[in-house]
Amino acid sequence: MTDTAFTYCPACATALRRIAQVEDGGPKERLRCPACGWTHWNNPTPVLAAVIQYRDRILLARNAAWKHKMYALVTGFMEAGETPEDGIRREIKEETNLDTVELNLIGVWDFQRMNQVIIAYHALARGEVMLSPELVDYKLLPYDEVKCWSAGTGQALAKWLRGRGYEPEMLDAPRPDADRTP
Ligand SMILES: [Zn+2]
Repeated sequence: MTDTAFTYCPACATALRRIAQVEDGGPKERLRCPACGWTHWNNPTPVLAAVIQYRDRILLARNAAWKHKMYALVTGFMEAGETPEDGIRREIKEETNLDTVELNLIGVWDFQRMNQVIIAYHALARGEVMLSPELVDYKLLPYDEVKCWSAGTGQALAKWLRGRGYEPEMLDAPRPDADRTP
């Protein structure tokens, strides 16, 4: 969610303004409601990501909404009432039809361009690939042919590859206007 997601106060419908106010860390300008004091905190949204290891390859997928031609990790938003582990298993199943047989946390990264926090897992997956309508294509790449974006989920992929002894080529991330997902 970007800082422009709210125009009006969700509590009283007054137009929000950027107002400085003293908080625990000192004065801070945020979108606030001048009538009732509601504050748009704009906290980052958690996003789950998976380095899917399938048939001794890395599965990268292309999102149908992307203008660029790059392939990336399977990602999705965490839903209310589920653990991060449940969430990434669900996303992997929904988007690729694969079953996760082993799950390991790779790490947590900021993705400031999208105001997200990326929680990245390695997932050992089995089954038959059937893509959801959200994905238009996928690739199964040998470990030494995977290239990584220098931001967002690419950092998680690079860390996992390095842990297995592969030094990936790092690419510039797609342009900021090229997609709306990490
Ligand atoms: Zn208000």
